[in-house]
Amino acid sequence: MSFSRRDFVKTSVLGAVAAGLGPSAEAAQNDNAQSGSYKRPIIICAHNGFNYLEDAFAFLKNGGDTLDAALRVVKGPEDDPNDTSVGLGGIPNEEGVVELDACCMHGPTRRAGSVGAVRNIKNVSMVSKAVFEHTGHVMLVGEGAERFAVDVGFPRENLLTDHSRKIWLLWKEYHSRDWWGPGLTDPHWQPPLDAPQQASPQKGEPQQPERGKPQSQLWRDRYRRLEEHAAALGIAEEDRAEAIHKVLFPPTGTIHCSALNEKGEISGCTTTSGLAFKLPGRCGDSPIIGAGCYTDQDVGSAGATGSGEENIKVAGAHTIVENMRHGMSPHEAGMDALQRIVRTYNGDMNRLRFVDMIYYVLRKDGAYAGVSLWEGYSAGHPHTIAVHDGSRRSEVATPLFKGFSQDFPPEPKVPEEIRKQYLK
Ligand code: ASP
Repeated sequence: MSFSRRDFVKTSVLGAVAAGLGPSAEAAQNDNAQSGSYKRPIIICAHNGFNYLEDAFAFLKNGGDTLDAALRVVKGPEDDPNDTSVGLGGIPNEEGVVELDACCMHGPTRRAGSVGAVRNIKNVSMVSKAVFEHTGHVMLVGEGAERFAVDVGFPRENLLTDHSRKIWLLWKEYHSRDWWGPGLTDPHWQPPLDAPQQASPQKGEPQQPERGKPQSQLWRDRYRRLEEHAAALGIAEEDRAEAIHKVLFPPTGTIHCSALNEKGEISGCTTTSGLAFKLPGRCGDSPIIGAGCYTDQDVGSAGATGSGEENIKVAGAHTIVENMRHGMSPHEAGMDALQRIVRTYNGDMNRLRFVDMIYYVLRKDGAYAGVSLWEGYSAGHPHTIAVHDGSRRSEVATPLFKGFSQDFPPEPKVPEEIRKQYLK
């Protein structure tokens, strides 16, 4: 897998954003609402739900409830210890504790449930459903949510796998990356000195990347030290590159799923372990009804994976559903939400390149779209959504910007020779 910092290309779409225009005609071609070739039932989800779609689709087709179908999909990654972004085996917070977030909405009964910062319970998506089944509340967090889950029958278990524990230990020993300090939104934030400088779209064409002083030696020393630490911690040689990358650039990762049956009933859910090494108690967008997930039986359903903090500020999923209510296609609705993220930073590409977002959008008639801020994380690894409407497939999400998002936190560029050597 390539973990390179990203080449960066400004597109005609970006030009449209800068000019305050809607989605480009080029991008709109991927909108299945225009072709009219869509069907029910249908399930759409993040790429990591792909393997669980057959079972959930059969369940839905045989009359199963739409939310239960979506929960079947997301339970797969929650149960999988090798998926380090969700449920069991999630990368822990800065104290080495796995904390999970989830929410769901059941369209037919218009109910919603949510849990945030839950420890020791694997299937938090199902706990979020239990919140509306067993209480008059919508959202429970922390210790109270954990106790509630146990009370209604979920087992307490250790969610920290040996694999994730070692990555956390490596991060801890390395200890130069955390989430303290001013973020991207700070007015005085500066990009790293030798990172490529990107002109804001209002100022015309992007500048060429400024080739700062090569930091080869610094990076080489850094990787050597991390490799030694990783070996001392017993991280298998073949896992070291992945572990080092996660330490240097704490990953996110999540699953959203929306399901629509033949009758037009629709539901959605989102579940995650959130941002790696986050501050204890940090909740991203995934447990926020209206940000990580929103479903309205009259309109459709939407969900998100990506930079949670950014998505909360634009209430992404709710914005998308409201956009569809007012006549936008799934594609247009998602693109508009992405443009609101661009607006958060006034189109400042020096900041936006550190942000990424994928929206999964499903309209009540079966029209759907997957849209993303960037093409993916690196060449050859585009953002995709998984779809099942009788045939199961992966589809590339339509990006607002051409090019790839850049790992966060902002870092001087990893020199190419180091990248090739260590981050294969
Ligand atoms: N949105 C999630 C969060 O911020 C992470 C992700 O989707 O990758 O917690």
